[in-house]
Amino acid sequence: MDEILYKIDDPNLQEEIKKIIPFHGYLSTGAFIGLQMLNLARRLLDIKEVDRIFVTCETQNCLPDPFQILCGSTIGNKGLNIIDHGKMAVTINKAAPPGEKTVQAVRIVLDPEKTVNYPIFHAWYMNEAKISHEEAINYLIKADDDVYSWYLIDIPVPVKKKKKITLCTVCGESFIREGDEIICKWCINPENG
Ligand SMILES: [Zn+2]
Repeated sequence: MDEILYKIDDPNLQEEIKKIIPFHGYLSTGAFIGLQMLNLARRLLDIKEVDRIFVTCETQNCLPDPFQILCGSTIGNKGLNIIDHGKMAVTINKAAPPGEKTVQAVRIVLDPEKTVNYPIFHAWYMNEAKISHEEAINYLIKADDDVYSWYLIDIPVPVKKKKKITLCTVCGESFIREGDEIICKWCINPENG
């Protein structure tokens, strides 16, 4: 993995990689893709160091981790949302100005119409060939923004709802109620016997 760090001239990118490695466990191709998507979004949305950002990842694999370690967008603080479409795609936005109902976001996708220009990397992306993370990341360093597509969208700002807590009539545990339900999701789930 040190070999990859030598190939990167940008000291900021090197520092970011050094933070990702202990957090994710190693520098996976997916984590590197997340890092490139983050840096692309920073330029497109003029994201500054102090800005809080909100991220929706469309896969659980690797991609979410750079956002958690580098910008503090975590699942617990609602900065990170995972909607698993099984896609190498993210949607990123800054906090909306007060009172706004929508906010501008950018959706970035690892685009197969573009990765096709890098046949070995494309074969990895389509899961048709096994290559090492080092090799895949080398292609990504060369390609840079050239394998991504992106567009701006307006997304609704989530409205904060008042939490309604109730006690489950089956198990007696408390849960956050979405409507008028009186039995918790744990008790309804047939897998929990
Ligand atoms: Zn229950």
